[in-house]
Amino acid sequence: MIINEAPPFKELSLNNYLFNDESLKLYEEYISKTLGYVQKFLASRKFYKGDDLEEIRSNRSKARLVDIHSSSPIDKALRELDDLYISNAIAFHNPNYVAHLNCPITLPSIVAEIIATSVNTAVETWDQSTSATFIEQEVIRWICNEFQLGNQADGVFTSGGTQSNFMALLMARDHYAFEKFGINIKQHGWSDQVSKFRIFCSEKSHFSIKKNAALLGMGYDAVVPVKVDDKMRMDAEELVLAIEKTKQEGNLPIAVVATLGTTDYGSFDPIQTIGKIAKEQDMWLHVDGAYGGCYVLTETHKHYFEGANMADSVTIDFHKTLFQPVSCSAFLAKNKQHFQYVSYYADYLNPLEDKDTERPNLIEKSIQTTRRFDALKVWLTLKTLGTKTIASYLEEVHELAKRVHEHLHNNPNFETAHVPELSTVVFRYKNSEAAHEPTHDKVNLHIKNTLFKAGKASIASTKLNGNIYLKFTLLNPKNTINNLLNIIEMIEETGKKYQPKTEAL
Ligand SMILES: *Cc1c(COP(=O)(O)O)cnc(C)c1O
Repeated sequence: MIINEAPPFKELSLNNYLFNDESLKLYEEYISKTLGYVQKFLASRKFYKGDDLEEIRSNRSKARLVDIHSSSPIDKALRELDDLYISNAIAFHNPNYVAHLNCPITLPSIVAEIIATSVNTAVETWDQSTSATFIEQEVIRWICNEFQLGNQADGVFTSGGTQSNFMALLMARDHYAFEKFGINIKQHGWSDQVSKFRIFCSEKSHFSIKKNAALLGMGYDAVVPVKVDDKMRMDAEELVLAIEKTKQEGNLPIAVVATLGTTDYGSFDPIQTIGKIAKEQDMWLHVDGAYGGCYVLTETHKHYFEGANMADSVTIDFHKTLFQPVSCSAFLAKNKQHFQYVSYYADYLNPLEDKDTERPNLIEKSIQTTRRFDALKVWLTLKTLGTKTIASYLEEVHELAKRVHEHLHNNPNFETAHVPELSTVVFRYKNSEAAHEPTHDKVNLHIKNTLFKAGKASIASTKLNGNIYLKFTLLNPKNTINNLLNIIEMIEETGKKYQPKTEAL
């Protein structure tokens, strides 16, 4: 090899770039530099510094990768990163961030991330993951046990609730096709029967059910939304009617998805009743507990899970309600045999001839191949905090949601949409002077956007009966009712100042 150019820096060597036994000193140095940037991120008292369009535009060009042919010191890149990303990042741990399902994260989970990332284990085949396999299996066993799924249950870590729900619908589809028609979709692919398959879920269920039905070739139309009652829970009678109607139309009801903790309202579908209906109809029962699932650890919400052990599969997101960094999620199946619908024996990785029960290959349960060791975060968090501390965090944020709701309910400038069952509060600012719905929509969007852009508070919005509502998602146990009342005050002030006429530029 001919080197045309002299290295630009005298210390240039592979040790400057690769993690190994010789680069430990540099690793330490980099970690301590990183700490400096993290400290800066934490030092900001705002959830976001606020935005203006000009800066957004200039950041777009700052992100561009130019002049990357030769090496350059990491300090320069880190300074640029600070300016572009860290100083603009959204701080989910900040009490004025109350928008989406992003939680503050536990310290042990960060420690676990550093270890898992540095060691870089891929939980794929035994010869890549060795005893990390047991850590993932143990976390799965623990959570299956919390759901009382029985001793045939098993599971796998996934990238998130969306992927877990995908696996659930895939299993439901392939299982039904095989049991009822002897069709092996994994082997032979599409069958016309599948176009008649129908999946039932509440109209407040997560969009990933529809999206996954489409990805699985069944289409949005395969998903039948079932009406909810006044508490935003699936109405079991409506479910029965919907199933009957589907049958009359000549279609095949194959699965019911019960949401434990809907994304917007935190409502729990009546799993006991729904489960019985699903079993009577010989349908797959999937529990989407992406948001509410971890509340199984609490005393306050445990009763919502009675009957959840009827589930054929469960989705649970530790990156939402177990205070874990993204990504951290699991998919559980009551009958481990059902993982056969995703398993594949690759000659170069896990040949069937080499199957060894003492040395399992987790790849056989996953739709991914190379996969992160996300289970370590949960394991270390559980070993350090213990489940009681986690449960107390979850109970605390639920308590905050109830108190916020109470205040909003008693304030004539607001209309609340539901009584919180978990930790979201959906409401809207409704100044009685404003006469018609489109104005209310505009005011509420204006409030959300104004507070976000000013870096004052991040609130989400959603739609109910076609109208815009605001939403608090409370996942920070360190938040206080006073701080939340302060945000509500900002909402009122911003709402009052809204001038429809001057807005219409
Ligand atoms: C968030 C959520 C999902 C999707 O989970 P991701 O981890 O974001 O993919 C699915 N279902 C429900 C009920 C959710 O709240």
